[in-house]
Amino acid sequence: MSKRKPIHAVEELRNVATDYYQKLDRASKDPFQKVAWCSSVGPAELLLAFDFKVYYPENHTAMLGSSRIANKYIPVAVAQGYSPEICSYLTSDIGAFLMKETPLTKAYRVEEVPKPDVLVYNTNQCRDIQEWFAFYARTFNVPLLGIHSPKNIEEINQSHINYVEEQLKQMSDSLEKISGNDFEKKKLEETVHLSLETSNLWTEVLETAIVVPSPFTFFDGCIHMLPAVVLRGEQISVDYYRLLSQELEERVENGVAAVENEKYRLYWDGMPIWGKLRVNSEQFLELRACVVASTYCNSWIFSDLNPQVPFSSMAKAYTGLFINRSESSKEKYLQEMTKKYQIDGIIFHNARTCPYNSNTSYGMPKRIEEQTEVPNLVIDADLNDLNVYSEEQTKTNIEAFIEQLAGI
Ligand code: SF4
Repeated sequence: MSKRKPIHAVEELRNVATDYYQKLDRASKDPFQKVAWCSSVGPAELLLAFDFKVYYPENHTAMLGSSRIANKYIPVAVAQGYSPEICSYLTSDIGAFLMKETPLTKAYRVEEVPKPDVLVYNTNQCRDIQEWFAFYARTFNVPLLGIHSPKNIEEINQSHINYVEEQLKQMSDSLEKISGNDFEKKKLEETVHLSLETSNLWTEVLETAIVVPSPFTFFDGCIHMLPAVVLRGEQISVDYYRLLSQELEERVENGVAAVENEKYRLYWDGMPIWGKLRVNSEQFLELRACVVASTYCNSWIFSDLNPQVPFSSMAKAYTGLFINRSESSKEKYLQEMTKKYQIDGIIFHNARTCPYNSNTSYGMPKRIEEQTEVPNLVIDADLNDLNVYSEEQTKTNIEAFIEQLAGI
């Protein structure tokens, strides 16, 4: 039986996560400290420049998924009129809130999610995020601010950037009033600078998997992405990725493979199945298949950030995300990734409740196979709702796919 090789930096990751959530908890109880809730690819740098402590509900709900308790909460939100067909991040998070439960208690000794003074989203990822945050804005009776991004973009042009930049500047005016702090360009330049550094180091980490055999898997990435999501714009994420990058470089130098005797290199498109991360990773390990790259982990790469032009570069970086692009633009990206990482096969996760992160509905898997000659497998599952996931069927399909790659 092959074994997963633990990454030592995970110990430090636990400290980083505990410190992050405990600080948020203290901020929530401090009348002089403001807390902002932010979507995972929202304008974090702007919030940090106004000294908000920033909380990300998507990380919280991914914890519900990975601890396999999301299905306990989804029906509670459904009873409030939210469809079981919409984002299961949303339904499980709202359900847990209504039941006054949170996985933060067990993981970090934090009794409840922090109370927001403002909620900030960007529709660059989807529409559901707006409705999700609107629930909490009504519940806590606090302002809800949004960036409404242009969608399905082929190539980003100046008019896209201007449109989003103007919204960011208007948001900055509102945040000035809510925070009670004056806008200081220097502070924003600093948070954008730290975010860019985080992004560059996170890229370095992910790109160690270009090496054959890869020292890192997509499943490792799902765990180690936390600082890039919740702490970008802060020094702590930079420090963490320096540590992780160093460990992975050592693995590369010593020829340490994440998957012993790596035989197949796979790409994962779409979201993780949070509650089955371990099961999926162990099956690939057994089959000597390493999932070396993914669209998901790369979503927190923001190379277009530039501290010298903070507003316009944030507009460009956050509008240019994969999820926000046209089908043909996404296809070009996937073609490049298959070459860069020497991919033998692609897994497309068709997540039932997140059509935005699923690229299976408009013929993309077939077209990609024709364009790249790399075969693919579509897995029907979900990010948090395990009721739509069949373990046996998924295992059988993955096994058959690897046999296909082996030419059996
Ligand atoms: S992108 Fe998908 S998973 Fe994320 S909030 Fe939107 S619908 Fe939910």
